[in-house]
Amino acid sequence: MGARMRLFWHKEPFDLEGTERLFMAAILQNAAYHMRHCDEYRCIAEAEHFRPDLVQTLPDITKLPLLPTALFKRHTLFSMPKWRIPVKATSHGTSGNFSRIGLDTGSLLAGLGMVLRMARTRGLLSLRPVNYIILGYKPHRGHHMAVMKTAYGSTFLAPALHRVYALKPQGDTYQPDLEGVLDALQRFSGQRHPVRFMGFPSYLWFLLQMMEERGMRCPLPPGSKIMLGGGWKQHYREQVEKPVLYALVKRLLDVDETEIIEFFGAAEHPILFTDCPYHHFHVPIYSRVLIRDVHSLEVLPTGQTGLVNLITPMLNAVPVTSIMTDDLGVLHEGTECPCGCKAPYLEIIGRVGMPDIKTCAAGASDILKGVDA
Ligand SMILES: [Zn+2]
Repeated sequence: MGARMRLFWHKEPFDLEGTERLFMAAILQNAAYHMRHCDEYRCIAEAEHFRPDLVQTLPDITKLPLLPTALFKRHTLFSMPKWRIPVKATSHGTSGNFSRIGLDTGSLLAGLGMVLRMARTRGLLSLRPVNYIILGYKPHRGHHMAVMKTAYGSTFLAPALHRVYALKPQGDTYQPDLEGVLDALQRFSGQRHPVRFMGFPSYLWFLLQMMEERGMRCPLPPGSKIMLGGGWKQHYREQVEKPVLYALVKRLLDVDETEIIEFFGAAEHPILFTDCPYHHFHVPIYSRVLIRDVHSLEVLPTGQTGLVNLITPMLNAVPVTSIMTDDLGVLHEGTECPCGCKAPYLEIIGRVGMPDIKTCAAGASDILKGVDA
């Protein structure tokens, strides 16, 4: 088994030290693969005088060719022919402004190991059947959004009795069906099977507002969980209101804050970040995060704010080994979190050039307009 597969199937998803050599071996192989198979990647690497053998120990990852996510939004870069890429995914976006990413068979197998390990850390793997409410898109032919695939994939962590979707395909767009979700919620609330929510925090916020206006309360059966995710953007926009959201969940759905599990990831960095019980995103073994100075791109020490650089050896199909996002973040020492996990955790705090912070309520206005897909 190759280094990548051994890393992604490693038992302990936060054992950064114990897997460092494996991570470096996988990174070296991954960078070498993209140099052999992707002309654009090789050109960028050669222009920076990069050679895969320069990456030997962890500090060397700063030398990897740094590709901005904006590049993937304008160009389609692949390191293998399309027929060898069984799954295609796009970032969440409108008007053609999204990245096209592919998952090769090896990365799908690696990803399965990662998802199983990460899901277990928050008690998401279960054989007990549940009713799912997806606050997101219903899968539809011709749509490849990564968020949609992640949401659908999450409904296999425990057997699904029903799947109800908040956004339903209608022609080329998606239409919200929150009334349908509320009906289902009332139905599920009276049953003994746990309910699992999965989706965008802003949609949950909007749904809870509707419930409150109508004086509705739907206590969910024991074992119910709220899974929230949908990309970095969603995450930092709504951070301010998280405690209010958690309180509302407890009051209207009777689900404790510890049963609210958040995820994030990006199409260009398809690593599943799962929060700890304190809602911190500790960096798992499949990924390394560097924070870089906004102007000089120099790597900054822990605790300082800068641009988020994400590194993973997961994909052979697309050269996303080291990507530069336009997100601003801070890396904190793992010991700052009381949960006991020693891995540093990443806090996303904004985006470069973002005019203002949009709130949950404003994000939810997208729902009323209908959402382009
Ligand atoms: Zn923690």
